[in-house]
Amino acid sequence: MNETEKTQLLGMTPDELAAYLKALGQPAFRAKQVFSWLHQGAAFEQMSNLPKALRETLAETCTANPVAVLETIESKLDGTIKLLYRLPDGHVIEGVLMRYKYGNTLCLSTQVGCRMGCAFCASTLDGCARSLTPAEMLGQIVCANGVLAPQGQKVGNIVLMGSGEPLDNYDNVVKFLRILRMEGGLCIGMRSVSLSTCGLVENMRRFAQEDLPVTLSLSLHAPNDEVRKKLMPVARKYGMDDVLDACRYYIEKTGRRVIFEYALVHGVNADPAQAVELAGRLRGMQCHVNLIPLNSVPERGLTGVTEREVDAFRHALEQKGISVTRRREMGDDIEGACGQLRRRYIKDNNLNCET
Ligand code: SAH
Repeated sequence: MNETEKTQLLGMTPDELAAYLKALGQPAFRAKQVFSWLHQGAAFEQMSNLPKALRETLAETCTANPVAVLETIESKLDGTIKLLYRLPDGHVIEGVLMRYKYGNTLCLSTQVGCRMGCAFCASTLDGCARSLTPAEMLGQIVCANGVLAPQGQKVGNIVLMGSGEPLDNYDNVVKFLRILRMEGGLCIGMRSVSLSTCGLVENMRRFAQEDLPVTLSLSLHAPNDEVRKKLMPVARKYGMDDVLDACRYYIEKTGRRVIFEYALVHGVNADPAQAVELAGRLRGMQCHVNLIPLNSVPERGLTGVTEREVDAFRHALEQKGISVTRRREMGDDIEGACGQLRRRYIKDNNLNCET
């Protein structure tokens, strides 16, 4: 059977697995066994408590993990590991594994590319080829756990900040999160997950009602609509007032604070007067601002800021009582920023982005 035709078992809930295995004549207790093996990263032949005939049938018709690691690159600066993965249809995606003192955080992709078109982002340069399935999101974690296994470690935190717009792949992301926290599987709780969105208002409101209280990160990048429209096409559809109202709704529903991401772009959004304007917009909100020095993307012609400019912007926000940090840059020597490694791989191997 062709790889793309195989059933992706990793994206099934235990109930769905039970139904699938029942159709193969298996008793109900098999579902729990298979679920546990899949999330441990076992291949079918390693699932030692399953009958041999079942293992063979599954190996012919299903994938245990649709994601395979193509390449890993470790940063000499901070131990950050960049992962390049291959999907069953040949698409290539990337992820970043950040090693903090308190644990390992994996940055996941939710789509192959992105269709949001943000001016500074490398992931969106060739548009979105397709959305990832729940199994392909879980599979990235299973792969990273495999990379960490020799050191007796695992992924503890997840950030949905790789390629793609998670709320543009709503149903699959929600299903992924529901499976992610299940006992007997990866068992990663929603407090250990951050979801970053460019601000798709209807889906933010819908997501607030899912009882999946992850930390919401909102890519704001501007103090007003005029500046936001220069950087983010999505701002033409949703005004900042509506986006901020949806954030307030999320805070109210989940009790979690919202984090605003703000990439400082020289000459566009980095003036201290703009920090003051931003503080005015955020006044009274239970929030935090994360300043990101721009990773310059040569294709886009936008430049980052100096340390002094970051400090001045931060200081202006602090003066207005806004909680703010500057994002640590990790893996600077290994093309840590969104979409850059994948683009280099595709270019070096003369691959077309659509293949
Ligand atoms: N689509 C989602 C998540 C992906 S990007 C979103 O828009 O939030 C994760 C974060 O990295 C976003 O805040 C994004 O705006 C930011 N980002 C993308 N390219 C960047 C660059 N070149 N420099 C700094 N931040 C960047």
